[in-house]
Amino acid sequence: MINPDYIRWIKTRDCSVRDCHYQGIMDAHHRIGHNRREDYANKTSDGEAIPLCPPHHDELHAHGWQSFEIKYNLNQLKTAIKMLIRYVSLIESIQDSPI
Ligand SMILES: [Zn+2]
Ligand SMILES: [Zn+2]
Repeated sequence: MINPDYIRWIKTRDCSVRDCHYQGIMDAHHRIGHNRREDYANKTSDGEAIPLCPPHHDELHAHGWQSFEIKYNLNQLKTAIKMLIRYVSLIESIQDSPI
């Protein structure tokens, strides 16, 4: 799935790391690890993107996703699903509203 609108929206969210107060545009990090090879040549689907501020994004890639998830008690897959659910309900509420 390639979805520029979704990625644009992701970049306006808060950082996925709890209590991160970074102000600014987020990076859209595409989930790595779990059942995926870290050296996987292709990025995962945009539907698996999560917002991370640039410093946290750098840290994830520098130190590896396992230690990052443990340190911040963050599951990339669960976070990605939560973001998708939020996005879908937002889109539906726009479509349902009377003109
Ligand atoms: Zn990334
Ligand atoms: Zn952050």
